[in-house]
Amino acid sequence: MLETTHRRIAEEIAKILELSERETNLLETGSIHPDNWADFPHHQGKEMEIAENILNARKLYLEKDDECFFRLGVALHYIADRWTYRPRTSEKHNEWEELIEKAPILDNSQLEEVIKKMPMPSKEVDANLAQLRIFKSLVEFAFVKIDPKKYERVALEEAAARELMELRGYGLLKREEIKIDSESIESLIRESEDLDKLGRYALTLTGPFSPSLFPLNIITLTVNTRDDTRKVLIWCVLTQKLIEGDWLLRRMKRVMKESGAENGIMITSGRFTQEAQVFRMRTPLDLRIVTHDLCVSIAPHVFRLSTWSNPIIDVNFAYRVCLEVARLVFS
Ligand SMILES: [Zn+2]
Repeated sequence: MLETTHRRIAEEIAKILELSERETNLLETGSIHPDNWADFPHHQGKEMEIAENILNARKLYLEKDDECFFRLGVALHYIADRWTYRPRTSEKHNEWEELIEKAPILDNSQLEEVIKKMPMPSKEVDANLAQLRIFKSLVEFAFVKIDPKKYERVALEEAAARELMELRGYGLLKREEIKIDSESIESLIRESEDLDKLGRYALTLTGPFSPSLFPLNIITLTVNTRDDTRKVLIWCVLTQKLIEGDWLLRRMKRVMKESGAENGIMITSGRFTQEAQVFRMRTPLDLRIVTHDLCVSIAPHVFRLSTWSNPIIDVNFAYRVCLEVARLVFS
């Protein structure tokens, strides 16, 4: 996406959220900044950057630090760039970006009229119209807000899981606690791929959790979907450390298989290296990072593109997701 389009989206959002001049400038500056870093491509694979900048923005916002506007701008840049994934050839791509820049940001009824007239199959028109109506819930699906007052003596990760369960209507089948000490983790990573050894360190804990007390605790929640057709496994990984590699996700995938869970959600305050992101893309595992009162999915499902598109759809859909994310961060 061109710099001018990024600026336009940021300005539009600033207007709606009634940001001050300084705040608007910071949001705009952030939203054009990643192009200076040249950490391309921006059109895919930036889930971790999006999640971390959103979480950082939220934290700074709660601390009344106006750097939050810059941080959110950075996240919005990567989100918006996802809508300019096509065409892939650079010449065509530049042309597409120019068309996006010329496309106006419309209100919902105007945009609906434009979509209805687009030269695409009716089912694609319907899909686009449907997507237009669900942006807010799509964002809610990828983000979970936690009310800390509601969850005294509950680990942040589990609080996020409980909120997510409520949002999706999941029912709890089983709750287990697993403790893994730091020595066992280190030796596991060092020694081999034999992750079954992890089982040996599983033991039940009692009392309130604290990540500072234990290097790595896992609270396992086995849930079923509202219609009782699917089992979902939620792993709340209680750590604030960097989890290197993808061994923990591999382990979870294996447990999912053993317990007959079709989907898995891992929630942690820790951070992952690139391998975990790569692994997640290949498996039906929703990896979520939680901090303070916000839990963010790094799965890209809210940022999905349809095969049929148009510059007007691109800029308007990008703008809408960015706006909903901004609303959430500054709420
Ligand atoms: Zn970019």
